[in-house]
Amino acid sequence: MANGILVAAEVSGGAVASITLEVLGAARRLADQMGKPAQAALVGSGVEGLAKELIAHGADQVFVVDEPALAKYSCDGFVAAMEKVNAAASPDAILMGQSDMGRDLGPRLAFRLGSVSAMDCLNVTGEGGKVIAERPCYGGNARATYSFNTSPAVISIRSKAQEPVARDDSRQGQVTKVDAGIDASAIRDKLVGHQEVAEEGIRLEDADVIVAGGRGIGSAEGFSVLEELARALGGAVGATRAACDNGWRPVSEQIGLTGKIVGPTLYFAVGISGASQHMAGCTGAKNIVAINKDPEAIVFKSSRFGIVDDYKKVLPALVEACRKLKA
Ligand SMILES: Cc1cc2nc3c(=O)[nH]c(=O)nc-3n(C[C@H](O)[C@H](O)[C@H](O)COP(=O)(O)OP(=O)(O)OC[C@H]3O[C@@H](n4cnc5c(N)ncnc54)[C@H](O)[C@@H]3O)c2cc1C
Repeated sequence: MANGILVAAEVSGGAVASITLEVLGAARRLADQMGKPAQAALVGSGVEGLAKELIAHGADQVFVVDEPALAKYSCDGFVAAMEKVNAAASPDAILMGQSDMGRDLGPRLAFRLGSVSAMDCLNVTGEGGKVIAERPCYGGNARATYSFNTSPAVISIRSKAQEPVARDDSRQGQVTKVDAGIDASAIRDKLVGHQEVAEEGIRLEDADVIVAGGRGIGSAEGFSVLEELARALGGAVGATRAACDNGWRPVSEQIGLTGKIVGPTLYFAVGISGASQHMAGCTGAKNIVAINKDPEAIVFKSSRFGIVDDYKKVLPALVEACRKLKA
């Protein structure tokens, strides 16, 4: 008998990762639909204190595996720990973020539990007591719906696809310690190095305003006016694969199917045609403003506002208007 919706929590820099709070939001809503508790698995070393964060953001029960061998993520260690939590929690579904950890952990955990995984989903719902997951396919041009014949269904959720539950420190929950007895010498995969990519300014994933440019910008220098607009609006600069492949912007700024997934309030698509592989990375944007000199550009179909003109005329005028508004 399955008992709830379990989230595999992720810890980053000593805090609960923002993607975990989004996934917990999805778990809370799914648990309410199914009349079951929202559960969280907190796996790591020195992490027990974070259980209250998970409760404040919607978890009814938190299962804590706090052991020195779990100080860093390892597939062997975390799969073994999650297997113990699964035995204690017996969930209908295990949800996690579509992050480096989730990508690695999800399929392996599903196999260990004799179940299946659906990765990179946008939404989960409960219908007739069954968990249903929805994910994009064909480069973001269609959506596929999955139901599961095995339990627990292991589902990873794309970042920015779900809203966290508002923090409420008065929420009450139950914390259960699980002893997984992980032996460090049995962990075959070892992290041998860690390199932080230095990112200046606001991270694309966190930005509320993004000014993204494509091949239409024409050169690396052309991006300076996009940087100006981003600065004026307190936002970040993004790019298409074409702009990155040309060496005009770093690959870390690429948005799309093979780049970053973003969900700002305002997304400027400048000199971007609107290829589905690019748009797959920004469908979570609340408002898309396309600036393109070709009135037939497909990007206008997914935009809330469109300006048909040369970006070299439009952007300086926008920067000036922002300056005047601020003055
Ligand atoms: C498997 C796969 C994965 C991919 N993943 C990604 C991905 O993650 N991200 C991504 O971006 N792409 C990705 N692509 C590439 C994608 O298919 C497109 O080729 C790419 O997004 C096109 O980039 P673009 O819009 O900058 O260039 P183009 O399609 O060449 O469009 C340039 C646009 O600029 C306009 N323009 C030109 N000059 C001006 C001007 N002066 N002012 C205003 N507008 C102007 C033109 O009218 C045109 O619409 C992927 C492709 C494949 C096959």
